[in-house]
Amino acid sequence: MSTKQKTLLVQGYEVVIGFETHAQLSTQSKIFSRAPIAFGAEPNTQACAVDLALPGTLPVMNKGAVARAIEFGLAVGSHIAEESIFARKNYFYPDLPKGYQISQFEIPVVQGGEVSFFVGDEKKTVRLVRAHLEEDAGKSLHEDFIGQSGIDLNRAGTPLLEIVTEPDIRSSEEAVAYAKELHKIVTWIGICDGNMQEGSFRCDANVSVRKPGAPLGTRREIKNLNSFKFMQQAIDFEVRWQIEQIEDGFEIQQATVLFDPDTGETRAMRTKEDAADYRYFPDPDLPPLVIGRDWVARVQAEMTELPRVMAARFVADYGLPEYDATTLTQSKAMAAYFEAAAKACGQAGGHDWPHCRQHHQQQRSQASL
Ligand code: ADP
Ligand code: MG
Repeated sequence: MSTKQKTLLVQGYEVVIGFETHAQLSTQSKIFSRAPIAFGAEPNTQACAVDLALPGTLPVMNKGAVARAIEFGLAVGSHIAEESIFARKNYFYPDLPKGYQISQFEIPVVQGGEVSFFVGDEKKTVRLVRAHLEEDAGKSLHEDFIGQSGIDLNRAGTPLLEIVTEPDIRSSEEAVAYAKELHKIVTWIGICDGNMQEGSFRCDANVSVRKPGAPLGTRREIKNLNSFKFMQQAIDFEVRWQIEQIEDGFEIQQATVLFDPDTGETRAMRTKEDAADYRYFPDPDLPPLVIGRDWVARVQAEMTELPRVMAARFVADYGLPEYDATTLTQSKAMAAYFEAAAKACGQAGGHDWPHCRQHHQQQRSQASL
């Protein structure tokens, strides 16, 4: 298959998208405290002194969160940093009692890597910049209190892995296919429950447009896309809006925008902060995160067979086209069903198998896998 990408154009413009995805890690307790992270509890019943930022409390790293970050890095072919640093990202918001979020800035735990998937029958690869560990903030509740807001700190300190791509995505279809593939990877390896309604997997899409060959345009970041359907609608609207602005002679201003599913439109929430506005600095309460190669090797040894490894095995063992092997490894259940059926038909590579394949190809025209 050719890896060369054809240029997709919308009204003569090339669409450029980079993704930042927050995957909530499926640990028992929070990233720096012992409070539980179960969803849907009574407000403020799952926040301890550390999450409330009471004076004198100190964060303690949750090893399970680090193990899950390592697992993710191995799944997407990243470098696992032997030493990474936690930093304070400073901003004021009522649901952030410390006045800063603990995140990773200059040296993240997971570096590089890539995610490959099919868009139609075209194979696409998106490069990852990094994935870093951070804590979630609490929640402001505006609806339940007349004229007042409530603060629920149950979510404060929930472990997140923020996965950042290069601006390699070229259409809303590719964006949705990327997000679905990433969702498949994190749920397959079991580091995230993937529940989008509950916010366990939320995507921010950075969108810009440019004339082919021109430098990158100014981006606007669509925040908190928590359904694949809204993701596609939001990006399509945003692309049309940006092209219209440029055609009308306006310049795009860098901004953070929200998608409103009721109107199908995106609207600016705030002008975008730059990294410098957050006054990042290394958190003096947390030493550097040191990960020995032996730990990485142990995590690797315990990992389940990855979908792309399984797909490659299906190609080698059963002579399947790559597209078919990829389709069959969209879910663990389907892959297991296929292998059971293949075994029932005869051994992998055995003389009975080509007959099964022919049968499978006939079926394909009738049933959609
Ligand atoms: P920040 O952390 O301020 O949001 P980054 O430089 O880390 O900024 O980029 C965030 C995301 O935006 C990345 O996924 C990156 O690929 C993407 N991105 C950067 N520039 C553009 C652009 N001009 N158009 C579309 N996406 C972009
Ligand atoms: Mg961002």
